[in-house]
Amino acid sequence: MSNHNDTSFTDKQLRILTLYSEADTESLAEQLAALLSSGSVWLAGDLGAGKTTLTRYWLQALGHKGAVKSPTYTLVEPYSIEQDNGVTKLVYHTDLYRIQDPEELSLIGFDEYLDDKDALVIIEWPSRADNYLPTPTLFIDMNQSVDESRQVEIRLSKVGEAQGLDLSVLKI
Ligand code: ADP
Ligand code: MG
Repeated sequence: MSNHNDTSFTDKQLRILTLYSEADTESLAEQLAALLSSGSVWLAGDLGAGKTTLTRYWLQALGHKGAVKSPTYTLVEPYSIEQDNGVTKLVYHTDLYRIQDPEELSLIGFDEYLDDKDALVIIEWPSRADNYLPTPTLFIDMNQSVDESRQVEIRLSKVGEAQGLDLSVLKI
């Protein structure tokens, strides 16, 4: 987890939450789905931290009904979700863990996903290619504690701040 100079961030910009159970993770995912409808999210954390689980609940909160596979091997799993309001939401769930060379990003059409201003792009293991990715809207860093609980740090980027997003609404 990165170290921040405590007082330099407000509750609007930075939240550190403890998820005691998967139900808490589901609740956070629902709130994130309501908070952010497009843009990209960097989802960092070790293997097993809960990145794919959070994304699965997030997709379900957006109305996705089927399975959510980890994109570890495919690098990207696209979702086209028919929402209750009749709008189709495009979500790209990516996992860059296996990226050997950032060139692979263009092979899987990454730029096109990121250029789609209405799409939501959730990126696991952004550290594998962070110099090649544009600044996301949100940084999320998940860490597993000794027990089943997870510590989650959520931070707005300048992009997120410029959109007027406010993380102080997140409640667990
Ligand atoms: P990652 O994508 O970060 O490698 P996964 O989401 O695939 O991690 O796996 C996380 C595992 O931890 C899953 O088996 C999930 O059921 C379990 N788990 C236990 N508690 C939680 C929690 N609070 N949030 C997310 N996952 C949890
Ligand atoms: Mg994963």
